[in-house]
Amino acid sequence: MNKFVYMFNEADKSMKNLLGGKGANLAEMLKLGLPIPQGFTVSTDACTKYYDDGEKFTEDVLAQIEDAITQLEVLEGKKFGDNSKPLLVSVRSGARVSMPGMMDTVLNLGLNDVVVEGFGKATNNMRFAYDSYRRFIQMFADVVKGLPKQQFERVLDEIKESKGYDNDLDMSADDLKEVVEAFKALYVKHEGSSFPQKAREQLLAAVEAVFGSWNNERAVIYRRMNDIPGRWGTAVNVQAMVYGNMGDTSGTGVAFTRNPSTGEPGIYGEYLINAQGEDVVAGIRTPLPIAHLEQDMPEAYSEFMRIANVLEDHYKDMQDMEFTIEDKKLYFLQTRNGKRTAQAALRIATDLVAEGKITKEKALMMVEPKQLDQLLHPMFDSKALSEAPVSGKGLPASPGAAAGQVYFTASTAVEAKKRGERVVLVRLETSPEDIEGMDAAQGILTARGGMTSHAAVVARGMGTCCVCGCNDIKIAADEKSFTIAGKTIKEGEFISLDGTAGNIYLEDVKTVDASISGEFELFMSWADEVRTLKVRTNADSPKDVINAISFGAEGVGLCRTEHMFFEETRISKMRQMIVAKTVEERVEALEALVPYQKADFKGMYEALEERPMTVRLLDPPLHEFLPHSKADIKALAIEMGITYEELQGTVDSLHEFNPMLGHRGCRLAVTYPEIARMQARSIIEAAIEVKKEKGFNIIPEIMIPLAGEVKELKYVKDIVIETVDAIIAASGIEINYSVGTMIEIPRAALTADLIAAEAEFFSFGTNDLTQMTFGFSRDDAGSFLDDYYAKGILESDPFAKLDQTGVGQLVQMACEKGRAARPGIKLGICGEHGGDPSSIDFCHRIGLNYVSCSPFRVPIARLAAAQSAIKNK
Ligand code: PEP
Ligand code: MG
Repeated sequence: MNKFVYMFNEADKSMKNLLGGKGANLAEMLKLGLPIPQGFTVSTDACTKYYDDGEKFTEDVLAQIEDAITQLEVLEGKKFGDNSKPLLVSVRSGARVSMPGMMDTVLNLGLNDVVVEGFGKATNNMRFAYDSYRRFIQMFADVVKGLPKQQFERVLDEIKESKGYDNDLDMSADDLKEVVEAFKALYVKHEGSSFPQKAREQLLAAVEAVFGSWNNERAVIYRRMNDIPGRWGTAVNVQAMVYGNMGDTSGTGVAFTRNPSTGEPGIYGEYLINAQGEDVVAGIRTPLPIAHLEQDMPEAYSEFMRIANVLEDHYKDMQDMEFTIEDKKLYFLQTRNGKRTAQAALRIATDLVAEGKITKEKALMMVEPKQLDQLLHPMFDSKALSEAPVSGKGLPASPGAAAGQVYFTASTAVEAKKRGERVVLVRLETSPEDIEGMDAAQGILTARGGMTSHAAVVARGMGTCCVCGCNDIKIAADEKSFTIAGKTIKEGEFISLDGTAGNIYLEDVKTVDASISGEFELFMSWADEVRTLKVRTNADSPKDVINAISFGAEGVGLCRTEHMFFEETRISKMRQMIVAKTVEERVEALEALVPYQKADFKGMYEALEERPMTVRLLDPPLHEFLPHSKADIKALAIEMGITYEELQGTVDSLHEFNPMLGHRGCRLAVTYPEIARMQARSIIEAAIEVKKEKGFNIIPEIMIPLAGEVKELKYVKDIVIETVDAIIAASGIEINYSVGTMIEIPRAALTADLIAAEAEFFSFGTNDLTQMTFGFSRDDAGSFLDDYYAKGILESDPFAKLDQTGVGQLVQMACEKGRAARPGIKLGICGEHGGDPSSIDFCHRIGLNYVSCSPFRVPIARLAAAQSAIKNK
């Protein structure tokens, strides 16, 4: 029989895939002899099976859960659903990788109308028992049945108000009994049935809810953002309860073994006396720093410090721990490798190497490549900042600078982002429902919550600037405004946040690009030592090249020459070239473009010194370049000395129904060979001049785009070679060059052996290759892909993350055919996927020579390439 349920004492940390991170680590801690409440884990396989079986538990899974409860009863000396010595449990999700806030937790499960009395007697605290029961009803209703918790909070507030209490702690056992009755009534109203009284029924419903939450919208979005496959499923942990809310000798907290914002060594965290876990995370009361525990409970504190060190040494990484003190006795409820900012990630990784605890390779594997993005995020311009008055202060939860317009809900934030606005999301506190709004925001400001609140943890993970727990602001969400320092800020008005200092400014403070320093260079040098894939950049100007080299680019993998003509002064010549009716007219327009083109190439060659550069011949989808507005057409007609009507007629005649599949790429040069001639000349003349002037030995790689048939490639290639060879011969300067092609049409991949006979290199243009393999328009897919994610048809955007199953197969096949026909052929990728870590891993595995990506993604690609080299050793 397959095993689907494991007691904590049957497992260890190696079983993470099966038991999820939380379950495997609880088992490991137990093995280490640490104080862990006993429990069991329903495996991720059980979750997958649950979905495979049509969202049902099968008999074998049910029997194993039942058996595990019996074992837990024995271990704890208590009985589930019994009112003399009741066993109460927590039910928590735990996927392979932690997904903070994505899944839900139910505490105090096992209570009912009768058990609560027994529990009150057993703990000698009726107030506590009823408080636990009302929390359980609320959480169960929220997590399992989807009844909004705010409705329960409103009921609680009404009862408190009717009795004239300010604080929950003022409520007596009888008051809480009243709350329980009101909560149950609310439950009946929504569910049409009474609150379940059978402990086993409660448990199965909760386990089912955790499985269900694996596919809730927030989880699906989080997985898409973090490349987590839907097939993995989540495990469920059922653990005996311990209580941090049993009075002033109890408490609960969250702590890290190093500072998750900066990476500084030393315990960092906070706790609340007389509170249950969710109180700390929800940020309803403001917690105390962990150092304060030494005064409150010295023994628990020193035990906590000892165990925290044991855990960090054991896992050899910064730990994020949850603990509860029940009447002075310390329990650990969780440990995991903590989420951290990019800055902290680099500091921790390099410190652990310096402390001799880990190898450089392990350090490289500890940092998420995509996180490096954070180091490249904006900071405030120091002069602008010094002139901006600070209007309020909160906790510096996630570093960086943000300036934008204020929105109060996730949906309005998302809408504003779509309109192109910079957004600051302002919330009382955040919860997982806000995830899309947080993702849309440049910065997040909350009125409540500590450094480990949802807002803080999630924003740090996303690398989004966040100031939280700001008591200075009063939010009036209904009025869409908040007040701060006597001023009212309305929706749509600008504010700025300093996530490093926690400051709030009531103006649009100028930001500047980030500069990299500290451990970055050292860390990246380790990445460069191990990776075998080269990393180039996609760049179309000397400025981009200089920027990319500073991020470690080793060459240019794609210079899109049509991008060189977007500028105001150049576009009219480009347009004249496109609408020219005769070869003479076209040549004239092209001649005017030569100086621009040559100057840019020279600037790029000089910036690259002798690093390689692939220049692609013109590939303009015509709709991007033709004039559309009457005014633009008129202006161009005047410049060309023709009538408006004549030009309008030409523009109309060039209209294409499907420009992406139209007269672009090498097709343009087939019709107008003079375009290829002009470009080949600019590329080579620039190389000759730079060689003469600077002595750099430039080896241009001339790339012919969008070939699907070897003969069209050969046609254009012959023109290029004829032009280039004549110029070189006349100059008397030796220039080596190569001519290759992009593989971006499925037919090119299918006939890559024939193509390779003519092409000295391939560069995979996976943007077009994805477009043409899926038959999804690059420009339109965004309008329907969301439905594909929501319906589980696709898990991620194939234009961002390479579809290895389909498109990848074409890439791999083209590599094999290309190598067979031309051994040693140079292979690279220059589609957007060249900067995506999972796609880079694929590129490494199929043996490409390089990836090419936008300048800001170069560090990500360097690290992703290093990780692939380590993983695939
Ligand atoms: C591609 O198609 O992947 C590519 C790099 O070219 P472009 O995006 O310019 O079409
Ligand atoms: Mg393309």
